Amino acid sequence: MRCALCGWPRDETAVLSTHHTSEGWVRYRRCACGAVSIELVTLDDRRALRTAVVA
Ligand SMILES: [Zn+2]
Repeated sequence: MRCALCGWPRDETAVLSTHHTSEGWVRYRRCACGAVSIELVTLDDRRALRTAVVA
């Protein structure tokens, strides 16, 4: 996955925080361009299923 705004590889962006939920973990990341994205990481495969840019 890459940043929707600048194309920076999302794996290299800074993790702001991670929260455990019933579905897995919700991880907030902030890109070098300032965009914040949310990843849902599940217990099953531990990879991001969906992301959303929120800022
Ligand atoms: Zn970016």
